[in-house]
Amino acid sequence: MSDLDSLATEAAACRACELCLTRNNVVFGAGKQDATMMFVGEGPGRDEDLAGLPFVGRSGKLLEKLIEQETGRDRGQVYITNTVKCRPPNNRNPLPAEIASCERFLTSQVATVNPTVIVTLGAVATQALLGVNEGIGSLRTRVFDFHGCVMVPTYHPAAALRGGTGVLAAMRSDLAKARLLADQ
Ligand code: SF4
Repeated sequence: MSDLDSLATEAAACRACELCLTRNNVVFGAGKQDATMMFVGEGPGRDEDLAGLPFVGRSGKLLEKLIEQETGRDRGQVYITNTVKCRPPNNRNPLPAEIASCERFLTSQVATVNPTVIVTLGAVATQALLGVNEGIGSLRTRVFDFHGCVMVPTYHPAAALRGGTGVLAAMRSDLAKARLLADQ
């Protein structure tokens, strides 16, 4: 059993925060175990909670397309996860205490996969990893260090589905930047 499989087994039994009370499945993460690019969203939604896999709904389909078109990778060549592994009820944002309870899984995933680049998807994930309150519009113009990896913040694909061409174009630009950093 790989380190990630062991962690996933541990997460499947986790009851460290109240999100365990309403989940159907723990959505640990999926993808290549030694991927050069990791994507981190805020938390599972309804489709993900039912499937037990990250980013499988409409947002996931868009993310998959953008990853293919802008990074030259398919979803099996990257690693995808979230800040919390259980679905917040009614898709509310995860609470800081829930993110803190779940942080050890994400930290272990980053240490195990050891990607060159981590792309954070949206304000909640980006702010949680960086411990800041700035808006994503400002954060996405910069890159950061996260446990020795280059972090590239961008919008959440749900924002692109709601927000039209400006957000989508920004995401394309951010993923192209992430590709350059991952492939150099
Ligand atoms: S969200 Fe994370 S910390 Fe909370 S129960 Fe699920 S796996 Fe455990």
